[in-house]
Amino acid sequence: MCGTQIEIDFNLRELVLPMKIKKRSICHQCDQEFERLGGIRCDGCGRSQKSIDLCEDCQKWEHQVGFVINNRSAFEYNDAMHEYMKQYKFTGDYRLRSVFTTEFEKLISKQQPDVIVPIPINKSTWQTRGFNQVTGITSNLRLIEALETINGSKETRQSKKNRAERMSSKQPFKLSGDVEITKKISHQRALIVDDVYTTGRTIYYAANLLLTLSPMSISSVTLAR
Ligand SMILES: [Zn+2]
Ligand SMILES: [Zn+2]
Repeated sequence: MCGTQIEIDFNLRELVLPMKIKKRSICHQCDQEFERLGGIRCDGCGRSQKSIDLCEDCQKWEHQVGFVINNRSAFEYNDAMHEYMKQYKFTGDYRLRSVFTTEFEKLISKQQPDVIVPIPINKSTWQTRGFNQVTGITSNLRLIEALETINGSKETRQSKKNRAERMSSKQPFKLSGDVEITKKISHQRALIVDDVYTTGRTIYYAANLLLTLSPMSISSVTLAR
């Protein structure tokens, strides 16, 4: 991220025993800029707060869609994460995909999902970015691509919208036309993965569609929130 050469101090175990050395892809200084989320959080969106009661936003979701998704995120969307997303997604630096893979995948496994569904990206993003940022980060997991974007919806990118615009955006997804894929969701614990949880709008649209496939449960994990 900063271009500094990373020096690794091996401990005795690592020097003597035949073991895989943990590879670090960012330096300690950069790593410290990222804020890991933990402690007491809203039982819905996973934001840090004083109790596990649903926050106001999640109460609104419950009222609006009739359920609350159980979301967990690994990092706070702070300045460092904003910068990371800019470099990774919008500058399109595909090398940065692996920086958080281990931590992100650990959080995903903790939810014990049967099937993992990534949020898809639309055609124009494919053309400009060339990769799906979510599937890039989760390279070791088997993903079920049960969602597709609705063609022709030339959406402004979410990050350029303000809260009101995000909340009023239309359903951008549809279920995959491949029955072999969609039938994998039924009676399973389904987990949606995305890069950032902002208002929850995107995740709730995805969850609404997946619910029609009769999963046992639906939850979500995002890298940041
Ligand atoms: Zn660095
Ligand atoms: Zn909440």
